[in-house]
Amino acid sequence: MVYEANEARYNGSMVYNRTGRSGLKLPALSLGMWHNFGGVDPYENGRAMVRRAFDLGITHFDLANMYGPPRGSSEEMFGRLLADDLAPYRDELIISSKAGYGLWPGPYGDWGSKKYLIASLDQSLKKMGLDYVDIFYSHRPDPETPLEETLTALDLMVRQGKALYVGISNYTAEQTKEAIRILDELGTPLLIHQPSYSILNRWIEDGLQDVLAEAGTGTIVFSPLAQGLLTDKYLSGIPSNSRAAKQSGNLQEKDVTDEKLNIIRKLNELARRRGQTLSQMSLAWVLRGNRITSALIGASSVSQIDENVAALQNLSFSTEELDSIDEILA
Ligand code: NDP
Repeated sequence: MVYEANEARYNGSMVYNRTGRSGLKLPALSLGMWHNFGGVDPYENGRAMVRRAFDLGITHFDLANMYGPPRGSSEEMFGRLLADDLAPYRDELIISSKAGYGLWPGPYGDWGSKKYLIASLDQSLKKMGLDYVDIFYSHRPDPETPLEETLTALDLMVRQGKALYVGISNYTAEQTKEAIRILDELGTPLLIHQPSYSILNRWIEDGLQDVLAEAGTGTIVFSPLAQGLLTDKYLSGIPSNSRAAKQSGNLQEKDVTDEKLNIIRKLNELARRRGQTLSQMSLAWVLRGNRITSALIGASSVSQIDENVAALQNLSFSTEELDSIDEILA
């Protein structure tokens, strides 16, 4: 059936936050395609999730050159989704991709050289059937390539019209400061940083957030649910369809430790007292205080997307609740 987007998609609970001091707004929740959108995954499930997400006002879809499995296949799947359903809505979408992890053999298929980044974006555009991406990221800092070279490649993409904005991911506070300086000099300001962040992983509070706030750079955080740990799904064992159970999943069974489960159980109780599920409280927590532009979630079903978007109905925390979370983690 031909897809027609929900006419009420911008009248629901979705919130759009300004990305730093740029002109671009992003939805408070964005959908990432690291898992569950690869060649091994059922197309119709991915399609249903993307349709539902867009119908709920999620306008931002995040990819990378090597998402799959097989590596690189998520962009092909997304290209098919665009052709089948979303192409008429291209101007309502923010589509991102990245390069920085290994994709093809030899010295030009990994890290941060200009040679790799430019070739990779060209491949991504072909796979997705796009003329341009909205945001292109250096996926990780390259210790051997001068930062100037990596960032000059991003600047060139913008000048060529192949990317509208540029971002970096997994850079430390110091590296980010330097990147902001270099990109400012090049005339292509750093739009956004994509770091990991969740109740269980607070490293960005130690310097990076201040650097980004000062520069007027946005922040989109990945794995806000710690890949599913910050939900109620692992409380009574490892479900067979969960990321931890799947061979292709980045979360392993050994990551679901008793120590973590103890914390998760207590957080789950607190969430219930707030009238939320643990996933909802965890998303509200990363979005608290308006320091984060968007939380980048993953999903394996339409119902997870529904549950997670409903988190936006309560983003406020009492001081007691925030203290309780800190105590549980201490
Ligand atoms: P999350 O922490 O949101 O984990 C998503 C997983 O949690 C889902 O696949 C699902 O796993 C489970 N889940 C989600 N909602 C629920 C729910 N309501 N109830 C129960 N389980 C739920 O994020 P990801 O780790 O998937 O990362 C999100 C995105 O961030 C990626 O797709 C990618 O775009 C980006 N990313 C970027 C990285 C970078 O280096 N820049 C690194 C990693 C991610 P299950 O399959 O078990 O159901």
